[in-house]
Amino acid sequence: MSDKERTYQEIQRKIDNGKAVVLTADEICNRVRSGEKINFEDVDVVTTATRGIMSGTYAVFSFKVAEPNSFIKASRVWLNNVPAQVGPCPNERLGVLDLIVHGTAHSKTNPNYGGGHLFREIVEGKPITVEIETVEGHWFSTHTNIKDMQYAKLFGTRHAFRNYLAFVNPVNESLPSIFHAAEFRGNLSEATFCGCGELNPIENDPDLQTIGIGTRVMINGNYGYVSGLGTRSSPGKPNLGGFSDMHEMIPEYMGGFVTSAGPEIINTWAVPIPVINQDILDNIVKINSDIELKVVDVSGRLPLCKTNYADVWSNVDEEVTYQPSECIDCRVCEVERTCPMGAVTHKRGESAAHNPILCFNCGLCTTNCAGNAFSAALGNIDYCTAETEKGIPVVVRQSDRLRALKAADELKTKIISGKFKISEPVEYINL
Ligand code: SF4
Ligand code: SF4
Repeated sequence: MSDKERTYQEIQRKIDNGKAVVLTADEICNRVRSGEKINFEDVDVVTTATRGIMSGTYAVFSFKVAEPNSFIKASRVWLNNVPAQVGPCPNERLGVLDLIVHGTAHSKTNPNYGGGHLFREIVEGKPITVEIETVEGHWFSTHTNIKDMQYAKLFGTRHAFRNYLAFVNPVNESLPSIFHAAEFRGNLSEATFCGCGELNPIENDPDLQTIGIGTRVMINGNYGYVSGLGTRSSPGKPNLGGFSDMHEMIPEYMGGFVTSAGPEIINTWAVPIPVINQDILDNIVKINSDIELKVVDVSGRLPLCKTNYADVWSNVDEEVTYQPSECIDCRVCEVERTCPMGAVTHKRGESAAHNPILCFNCGLCTTNCAGNAFSAALGNIDYCTAETEKGIPVVVRQSDRLRALKAADELKTKIISGKFKISEPVEYINL
């Protein structure tokens, strides 16, 4: 082994002896930006994270709803009006439901409520309404909550992708899209994007040298495991599958995000990258300006040009600020109407109320607020093609770097305190 390599066991031993250097990707990148050269000896583990819309999510629940022999089996079930798939186990005559719920399922009654909202409310411990149709044709409803769920696990079929894309709409007409929280305005007048740039887990380990099947990670604040590659993963655009128990998740990391094409689901991953060789470190020291951001047409995702993540994460405000004193008490609060997280409420005669725990820092309110009570610099996409060269303002961020930073920080604390052990993959992933 060269002096630019370490084993997982060596790293964990150093952690156990209190001698390891564990840094967040943000800390490393800030040192690189300030001109420091980071050497192999300077760091043992880097914590990375991402928080954003991750549509490929489902949850499996199992809980009792009636006494044994009360009904044969369920044929259809809704949780808070969100449809669930019954099974796979029928649990015949047991009075117990096994259910699969898609994170992208939509409520049958509320267009602004879906699986993402439901999962957060379950984790918050709120009572959940269960509506059941049995194979005998009977209907009944009851309530449950996470404490009464013997099984509640969240699975990612397509999570933690290696950054993503920026979107623009080049045509005249506005259109609805899952990549915008309002109608996507045309004529290259605005941009949205996804991806936490230099913080992103796979961006820091693009060849998956340390992230593999069985790697321990944090999903929505709880311990979880990588199950392999996710759907539509490709060598150029890899993503991961994984799972974690919902009983110990942290609601702040989850939620529903209402796009103009309906509710979507948010998740947060934090992933440790053990610095096992120089090659890994060479990726870790890449900063936002080194990381490509492809700009695509939101219709069909046709590539238009390329820029980098510095456009959207350097010299911007990660947090959106609200000044209640600036609120002019509009007859209709456009921010309340359009906030994708439902984080703003307004009663006539009062300033609007902003819930920072629910807020995703997407930034839409900074363009929608009549009184300019919400503010944040969101950056501009440097759009450059043979026909057009211009800066296109970002109006919606579909990644929350602020909470990704928090997740990376919490993982660092857990590693240093011995609550999170570094693990070698059970099996390596071939990209
Ligand atoms: S749009 Fe802005 S100024 Fe108007 S009520 Fe809402 S928060 Fe206040
Ligand atoms: S940034 Fe504004 S629009 Fe976005 S979630 Fe927060 S309050 Fe809502």
